[in-house]
Amino acid sequence: MSYQIIDGKAISEQIKEECRKKVAAYKEKGIEITLAVIQVGADPASSVYVRNKKRACEFCGMTSLSYELPEETTHEELLTLIRKLNADDKVNGILVQLPLPKHIDEDLVIQAIDPKKDVDGFHPQSVGALCIGQPGFVSCTPAGIIELLKRSNIEIAGKECVVIGRSNIVGKPMALLLLRENGTVTVCHSRTKDLKEVTKRADILIVAIGKPKFITGDYVKEGAVVIDVGIHRNEDNKLCGDVDFESVAEKTSAITPVPGGVGPMTIAMLMHNCVGSVELI
Ligand code: NAD
Repeated sequence: MSYQIIDGKAISEQIKEECRKKVAAYKEKGIEITLAVIQVGADPASSVYVRNKKRACEFCGMTSLSYELPEETTHEELLTLIRKLNADDKVNGILVQLPLPKHIDEDLVIQAIDPKKDVDGFHPQSVGALCIGQPGFVSCTPAGIIELLKRSNIEIAGKECVVIGRSNIVGKPMALLLLRENGTVTVCHSRTKDLKEVTKRADILIVAIGKPKFITGDYVKEGAVVIDVGIHRNEDNKLCGDVDFESVAEKTSAITPVPGGVGPMTIAMLMHNCVGSVELI
């Protein structure tokens, strides 16, 4: 069967370009957009993500303020900075790069961010708004997956959608977004009894299981659309996903590659959220 490779790189560039134009239009009206990026400690993977986020801001014409705090920063010091940024009218978005060092309570930090500046969409108020269909920020990775589907002309309404994974940043908001798009949604997790039986029903299968190449061809229905959220490095230091692309692709009608699928969409949607933050001031 021939299948479509969903080009996340191209779609993410389209979105960033749209953001760039909107930022320029805001600038003409005298409105500047500023994102504050906070990193605690020097985890190398986090540093790469933070650098890429700042680069994307630059591309889109937004200002990024960088707060690189030492590993031993206390919970209270971090909260004091967040409160200062909450009160600063020049700051539209606040992003705290996760994971945080173990001595800091991640939930309390997320809750300290003003929901109007919660461009990551992790605040309980943002998640609640998504749940009951009110406006608010949506977690970037699942929001990016909806854009990938829509911009690849893949219909969601009425489809059997199966999400593997129930994390707060991917699985749960993904399920809510698919529901908002009128999909029939099933969520699988580590306690699901017969995973294969469920995934084989899926017209659209979203895989966020966090295990390299876990999903093989026998989990997938002929003609399904498969979205691979996973990012791992294999023995040869090459990137791979949660899906075994070689055995799955032939069975699908469309599939995202790793790299170049979901990955680039996360930052593009962060830019989209930053632009959207202007309307919430
Ligand atoms: P997580 O570890 O928090 O969640 C994994 C989920 O998989 C859990 O809810 C668990 O219940 C479920 N699970 C585990 N074993 C299972 C099994 N045998 N059967 C069914 N379900 C099972 O992971 P996460 O943060 O949601 O991330 C998932 C993957 O996506 C990871 O590989 C991560 O690196 C990647 N990720 C990518 C992006 C991106 O921008 N592309 C963003 C976030 C996460």
